[in-house]
Amino acid sequence: MLPQTFFSALQKILTSEYVLTDEALCWPYGTDGTQRFVMPLAVVFPSTHEEVVAITRLCNEYHIAMVPRGLGSGAVGGAVPVTPSIVVSLARMRNIIAIDPLNRVMIVEPGITNLEIQQAAKAHGLFWAPDPGSREFCSLGGNLAHNSSGPRAIKYGTTRENTLGLKAVTGSGETITTGAYTSKSVVGYDLTRLLIGSEGTLATITQATLKLLPLASEQRTLRALYRSVEGAVHAVTQIMGLAQLPSALEFMDNTTVELVRRYAGIDLPLETAALLLIGVEGDAHSINSTLETIRTAAKNDALITIETAHSAEEIHQLWQARRRLSPSLKHVAPKKINEDIVVPVSCLPEFLKKLAELSNRYGIAIVTFGHAGNGNIHVNLMYDPDNAKQAAQIDACLQAVFTLVLSLKGSLSGEHGIGLAKQPFINQEIDANSLAIMRQIKAVFDPKGILNPGKIFPAL
Ligand SMILES: Cc1cc2nc3c(=O)[nH]c(=O)nc-3n(C[C@H](O)[C@H](O)[C@H](O)COP(=O)(O)OP(=O)(O)OC[C@H]3O[C@@H](n4cnc5c(N)ncnc54)[C@H](O)[C@@H]3O)c2cc1C
Repeated sequence: MLPQTFFSALQKILTSEYVLTDEALCWPYGTDGTQRFVMPLAVVFPSTHEEVVAITRLCNEYHIAMVPRGLGSGAVGGAVPVTPSIVVSLARMRNIIAIDPLNRVMIVEPGITNLEIQQAAKAHGLFWAPDPGSREFCSLGGNLAHNSSGPRAIKYGTTRENTLGLKAVTGSGETITTGAYTSKSVVGYDLTRLLIGSEGTLATITQATLKLLPLASEQRTLRALYRSVEGAVHAVTQIMGLAQLPSALEFMDNTTVELVRRYAGIDLPLETAALLLIGVEGDAHSINSTLETIRTAAKNDALITIETAHSAEEIHQLWQARRRLSPSLKHVAPKKINEDIVVPVSCLPEFLKKLAELSNRYGIAIVTFGHAGNGNIHVNLMYDPDNAKQAAQIDACLQAVFTLVLSLKGSLSGEHGIGLAKQPFINQEIDANSLAIMRQIKAVFDPKGILNPGKIFPAL
């Protein structure tokens, strides 16, 4: 229960329509892409930086926890209010404050979707590199908080590499502006990169200065089909050794190929065991030679065909099918544990081979697809919770996957973050001293521990 005086003070900051307390109305804000659920104490919708400052100061005064929230598509439970908290939805802060095509910069508020950023940039012949599969329904704030990315990260980097500066409100209600307007700056510690990926635990981001890039005049998609997973991942290592990088290099295993065949209606030969979607960008002078170089690197004994997608419609269909793979996995088993591990690209063949062995050993189907060019593979452990044998093995299987990843110098998350889901595993990757420094940093930004408590760090 929140004290009445807290509410009265809140209603001096926001009009009553922007303060929800009715459980039925608060309910959608208690969950995210993980479907974990905890009822928020209240949900508030600030529309300005100053309102976020005032709300944060009020929460400090009353020692009430607050969870910044974008559009609730997060894959690790980051926006779920696990300890009794108010949810601060940034969904009303969706203005594009400025677009500066000459300097390739956009200043924007956090509630806007990734797709809306792309559309606004495209009108100037520009784009913002991070392109998560959820781009229609995830916010910039979530992208920043999770350092999100998508297929294009292989060539253009993640949110961190494409953000110049931030405006934010710390856990104690102080305003900070980080970074610079320029593409180079070495003035002080890099708080921009620290806040990106901090999952709403250090500050609420209210504005970002984004680095835009010019759209390539020519874009192609190659579709390569292989008789074996080994053949496909061998091709990935060859392509990533080239000087001309593709703009995307996505891998799908045999189960996901079947989903594409069945639900996207794309006709693929039955012998296809793996598929690579390869994006290639350039200008009219270079595109054909880059395509040819990549096509040559993709060839090996397991290749069935490699073709340029025939039409804009087919390209659209293939990429839509790729973006919808995650939700379409519900056709494979009632439950999935979706991990977004990363391994060095050269280790992909060994990783996928050993993953198949783990699947056999634990009797759990493991479906893989994802951003193979970065070594960032979505590993989906598919199981039926009513199957006693599978339910008994699932935790051990997940631990074995993580142990394998770390043994190959990999990382437990490439883009989804830690949130709640990976909290029990973080100290397997991060050493105790580094974790202790991270906790101290958290205490500097958020001395009362009111910002998104219970996330990232395991309980002491
Ligand atoms: C079908 C599907 C496909 C996906 N594909 C991808 C993909 O390709 N790549 C990828 O990286 N992710 C992907 N995701 C995960 C998810 O969409 C991203 O993590 C996204 O950035 C979350 O944005 P959101 O607005 O939904 O954030 P939310 O879920 O609302 O919040 C996520 C975290 O961000 C924090 N946060 C939100 N706004 C702010 C703010 N203004 N200031 C401080 N903290 C804030 C929250 O506290 C929380 O910790 C996918 C998810 C789904 C469901």
